[in-house]
Amino acid sequence: MAKAMIIGAGGVAQVAAHKCVENKEVFSELCIASRTVARCDELKKKLDGRGVPITTAQVDADNVPELVALIKAEKPDIVMNLALPYQDLTIMDACLETGVDYLDTANYEPEDTAKFEYKWQWAYQDRFREKGLTAILGSGFDPGVTGVFSAYALKHEFDEIHMIDILDCNGGDHGYPFATNFNPEINIREVTANGRYYENGRFVETKPMEIKRSYHFEGVGERDMYLLYHEELESLAKHIPSVRRIRFFMTFGESYLRHLNCLQNVGMTSIEPIMFEGREIIPLQFLKAVLPDPASLGPRTVGKTNIGCIFIGKKDGKDKTWRVYNIADHQEAYAEVGSQAVSYTTGVPAMIGASLVLRGLWKKPGVWNVEQLDPDPFMEDLNRFGLPWIVDENPVLVP
Ligand code: NDP
Repeated sequence: MAKAMIIGAGGVAQVAAHKCVENKEVFSELCIASRTVARCDELKKKLDGRGVPITTAQVDADNVPELVALIKAEKPDIVMNLALPYQDLTIMDACLETGVDYLDTANYEPEDTAKFEYKWQWAYQDRFREKGLTAILGSGFDPGVTGVFSAYALKHEFDEIHMIDILDCNGGDHGYPFATNFNPEINIREVTANGRYYENGRFVETKPMEIKRSYHFEGVGERDMYLLYHEELESLAKHIPSVRRIRFFMTFGESYLRHLNCLQNVGMTSIEPIMFEGREIIPLQFLKAVLPDPASLGPRTVGKTNIGCIFIGKKDGKDKTWRVYNIADHQEAYAEVGSQAVSYTTGVPAMIGASLVLRGLWKKPGVWNVEQLDPDPFMEDLNRFGLPWIVDENPVLVP
């Protein structure tokens, strides 16, 4: 029986809060705190009466003293950072100061530089360990479940993993010519960056969207997918011994790419400030303001996501390939928790990661990526809480 504090009240936080309430043997109390308290109150209203007392609060998570005061007042056992990656370090600082465990779903990224790396958060390792506190980094789907799948493959299916391909397919259709399924600013920063993959001990850089493949995804069909850099490549390259190559592919529809290309060509995706009518604005933040709020896509998105990993390696001296993936349905997710499947596939693993810390199974002083911890209870909970996984013993490989 424990209390969690969720910071953020967007699409992912909404799912995680629903799932914490569903798992009330572990989460006996919740506090939902965010920049706009009205969104926390709305969420609380949906969940009141389901047996878990919920408080709400306004907090600026960029401000450590404010966070510290709130954590001291609410006394949670874990803080789940479901705001934005920009807030990772301030929330980690506040957790250290108040002696509370920490979890997030995306690695730190400075707001003024489109560059995400684990080095900033890994630098907290000694401080968390010395205080006996646990920090879990990247407990969403990717990163998150993809790391758990990798740890599970290494534990049960392979003696050595040589190659990992992570395939992220969103076959959802929201009916808009252009919209993003999670925070537009974070999403666009990710997909307009150069691609990168890991090979033989180093990262190889590509131009954005330079490498294209197509793949048949169960539940969705044949889709074009593009090689992107994604944060779990950095941690998996470090934590999966003997891995030689790791790639990450994400599907994009033609309309999305055409619009993105055009927006990029006219400078709308830039994070360099410009002057507009006497004040400084950041084009990408302005774009975010005119795009549909990802939380509003839920009711109109149909179709499925299919996300998973293909592993190539050796078992008992023989070559082996193995694939594990999940299919999630946008409308089913919306009917259950009021958010589409991209938020669902992130919020469920966030709840599971936090519950494993609270149950003591992932309580280990220090800063950890999910693949460093025991995958078995996480894999069990994926089946239990709405993200069942499917194994393909003879997968089609990606050239
Ligand atoms: P949203 O933009 O929908 O929600 C973000 C929430 O954080 C909003 O409620 C926002 O408040 C709040 N927030 C932003 N800044 C602050 C601040 N300074 N102080 C307090 N609250 C703040 O994002 P999503 O729910 O889609 O995504 C949440 C996180 O999940 C992101 O970090 C994203 O990168 C990550 N993610 C991870 C995935 C994975 O698989 N690992 C996949 C998808 C997302 P307000 O309402 O005022 O705007």
